[in-house]
Amino acid sequence: MVAAPSRAGTAGGVETYGNFVGGEWRPAASGDLFENRNPADRDDLVGRFAASGEEDVRAAVAAAAEAAEGWRLTSAIARSGILLKAAAILESRVQQVGRELTREEGKTLKEGIGETTRAVQILRYYAGEAQQPTGEHYPSMSPATLLYTQREPLGVVAVITPWNFPIAIPTWKIAPALAYGNTVVFKPASLTPLCAVRLVEALAEAGLPPGVLNLVTGAASAVGDPLVRDERVTGITFTGSNAVGGELRKIVAERGAKLQLELGGKNPAIVLADADVDHALGHVVNGAMMSAGQKCTATSRAIVDRELVGPFTERLRERIAGLVVGDPQRPETQIGPLVDEGNAERVAGEIERATQDGARLIAGGGRLTDNGRGRGAYVAPTLFADVDPDSRLGQEELFGPVLGVIAVDGMDEAVAVANRVRFGLSASLFTRDLGRALAFVQGIQAGIVHVNSETAGAEPQVPFGGMKGSSSYSREQGKAARDFFTQLKTVYIDPPPTPVAVAERRSGGAA
Ligand code: NAP
Repeated sequence: MVAAPSRAGTAGGVETYGNFVGGEWRPAASGDLFENRNPADRDDLVGRFAASGEEDVRAAVAAAAEAAEGWRLTSAIARSGILLKAAAILESRVQQVGRELTREEGKTLKEGIGETTRAVQILRYYAGEAQQPTGEHYPSMSPATLLYTQREPLGVVAVITPWNFPIAIPTWKIAPALAYGNTVVFKPASLTPLCAVRLVEALAEAGLPPGVLNLVTGAASAVGDPLVRDERVTGITFTGSNAVGGELRKIVAERGAKLQLELGGKNPAIVLADADVDHALGHVVNGAMMSAGQKCTATSRAIVDRELVGPFTERLRERIAGLVVGDPQRPETQIGPLVDEGNAERVAGEIERATQDGARLIAGGGRLTDNGRGRGAYVAPTLFADVDPDSRLGQEELFGPVLGVIAVDGMDEAVAVANRVRFGLSASLFTRDLGRALAFVQGIQAGIVHVNSETAGAEPQVPFGGMKGSSSYSREQGKAARDFFTQLKTVYIDPPPTPVAVAERRSGGAA
């Protein structure tokens, strides 16, 4: 099936985009639209998108429910072929979509293109996974019994995603959902709907049957809430804040559905006295500041051995103060704006509060408005020293370009401090000592653990997710995605009785 273009038209030179429901691009039932603006320049209107409501959600869920049986029974090889084709389509548009990602989200062009390339890799990966065996054969107590498991899809899955990886995260949820035979209703973050449109276009053009993938854009209250409450939705995969994740937990506990939550982090990078300092510096700065610190795996605490905390902090200050902050489309830019004005103001407020709480501000410290940056959502890369690990800055995810340095005496205290937060997403250790590295891997409470590399690195073929408050004890990506997007069926097959056995039974065993 070749889908119609997503554009519903242009108004005043600005393009408008519809929902994708039942294989067709269409406006919201209300006809209402919402605006999406470039965070680097709020005068730049990226597009207008369908401001959907409950009626649109009901139509999308109905389309997904209607398509579910046919898609479940489509061969895995055919599903794999569609994902592979979608990968090729998106790959042919990587430069364009990467630029659009940067325009609507604000990360640098290199990061925007890199993330879109990652989405292509994920589509390819799940095209391969779709062809892997999914069941297991077991010995039975009865030698004649064929005993095995097979995995079956959940049915209609709701995919709810944040703005900070606006194409990679939707892809790493939607690709496995489809690969394992589910149909999808996708509600993207309202700050980044264009990337969602581009991903759906690629999958639709690759030949997904109508209703298998549906996109509904619009506000959380108008779209997200009715979606998670719809009884026909049997699986919900959500990535976002702990506050919203907590609400979803309650709603789903009442009505029953399979729920996956991937939430926030307060990720530590521990630097021991024996670390290669130059190496650690680069990784701590990149981990904290790339994407303006708006990664769930961003480094937000540098936990540094007291023996080197003074000179290490001074070198961090030099590096952080020297970062080039500006228009993310320009090649020399290292840090773009935050995703919108609201987030920039929120993070600036957190910086102010941390200063009042006693942390020592040594770089950055608030909004940047000079050199044209007043038109965007810019916050200076910010470094605090003498951070109390139990303060708000030491405990809460700020989701911005803010790093706090905490001084500790040795490895044991470092790990104890690192673990003393409610989150457990990712963590790094910098050391040359293999024994300490192994002890760290054993002791740290995090779902993703790095030794001598930054907290934010993640490859798509391995499980991704956190411990404690950072997730719902499930994992995404790699083969782990199969556990969420499928349910097990256990099958006992016994041979029918032979004619001789039937005759024996009829004659009471006298034959
Ligand atoms: P958010 O405010 O929780 O929103 C996430 C998504 O949920 C958006 O699509 C949002 O829609 C929707 N939503 C909000 N309230 C809802 C409700 N009551 N019912 C249904 N849907 C609802 O999070 P965010 O600000 O976009 O993302 C930042 C957070 O995501 C950070 O905490 C970060 O750590 C976390 N994150 C975690 C991971 C991970 O893998 N662990 C990865 C990336 C990000 P609207 O956009 O319309 O509000």
